[in-house]
Amino acid sequence: MDAEIIAVGSELLTPFRQDTNSLYLTDKLNALGIEVRYKTIVGDDRARIAVVVRTALERSRWIIVTGGLGPTEDDLSREVVAEVLGRPLHEDSRIRRRIELRFARVGRAMPPNNLRQAQVPEGAECLENKMGTAPGLWIEQGGAVVILLPGPPRELESVFESQCLTRLELIVPRTILRTRIYKVIGLAESEVDHRIAPLYNSYNNPVTTILATPNGIEIHLRARAADDSAAEALLAELGDKIESEMGESIFSTGGETIEEVVGRHLALRHKTLAVAESCTGGLLSEQLTRVAGSSNYFLGGTVCYSNELKTQLAGVPGGLMAEHGAVSKPVAQALAAGIRRRTGASIGVGITGIAGPAGGSENKPVGLVFIALADELGVQVREFRFPGDRDRVRLHAAMAALEMIRRRLRD
Ligand code: AMP
Ligand code: MG
Repeated sequence: MDAEIIAVGSELLTPFRQDTNSLYLTDKLNALGIEVRYKTIVGDDRARIAVVVRTALERSRWIIVTGGLGPTEDDLSREVVAEVLGRPLHEDSRIRRRIELRFARVGRAMPPNNLRQAQVPEGAECLENKMGTAPGLWIEQGGAVVILLPGPPRELESVFESQCLTRLELIVPRTILRTRIYKVIGLAESEVDHRIAPLYNSYNNPVTTILATPNGIEIHLRARAADDSAAEALLAELGDKIESEMGESIFSTGGETIEEVVGRHLALRHKTLAVAESCTGGLLSEQLTRVAGSSNYFLGGTVCYSNELKTQLAGVPGGLMAEHGAVSKPVAQALAAGIRRRTGASIGVGITGIAGPAGGSENKPVGLVFIALADELGVQVREFRFPGDRDRVRLHAAMAALEMIRRRLRD
């Protein structure tokens, strides 16, 4: 039941326009249990479109061609598909009348080119387009279904929703796709894969994908089944094994971000949080406050880069910085304890580090970050060496701070 999408349009091969129709279509098809196996973008060229359509016919059950249905000379999808399928084109008088009416209604003469849109390959069904002049086409041939849809996303979505969905639902056996997403923090992609590959390798269903994102590693499980409970059972079987292997490293199974998880834990335990950020420049605060309702537990804090402000705003003793340097364990600890004391928060977090590209030394290289967490039990501090450029170091540091808070709250 595999599908293939062909996006026709030379503009889609330039840096200025992107094929978004296939994203919309993939989402809709997946919801019906149809997988998209190939996507091709091809320019407005007769021979190239023909090759792509011929190839698709050899390997796919569902072929969706988008774009190239317009009235101009470079809109070739209709003609090329008709030719490849060996079906002559005929003018459809109803479509012709509808197009003539659309022009009459706005009081404009119809350019003769528009009649190209009334051409229909023999045996094709027309898919009414309420948003524009070019109707879509539905052609069944030798077990395959070729669907032509107009390029403008508004028109494509309208035609697909009003004309294709019900037709597809009638033909496609009822299967559904369900996804479970585990989010992991503090481990490299390869490490995650090394640990769970022996578990997921023996499963074709669910299908497992590991994705590296700026906010950590995600493990996606996608199960196909006849109904919800069967899909959930498949997800649970492999999911339970992955959960017990990864344990604490998994911070979310329901799509939650780490700042949401941290917020939930803080709210649940009636704890408050304040931060003193040096090398992250407010990024940690920014992430915490993305969550609606964060003002219930996040008191605020300070961004302090100069030594003077570290003293003034977070109470870091000047002597400490003179002795150990601003990027050091004792200063991170003092930032966390100081901001906690000054704000009255249950938890204080201090971050200090070298984001680069300058400012590193042999002893204190770029990427060195100290993060401390102070609460009623004392102050814990960790040393990190983050890879990457300035942006990456800052993001890693903010994420690591969130992870330290999460772990502290779980203990
Ligand atoms: P066409 O049907 O080829 O005349 O396309 C008309 C317009 O629809 C193009 O100029 C694009 O702006 C838009 N379009 C065509 N194909 C796509 C696509 N795959 N994704 C997003 N927009 C598209
Ligand atoms: Mg086009």
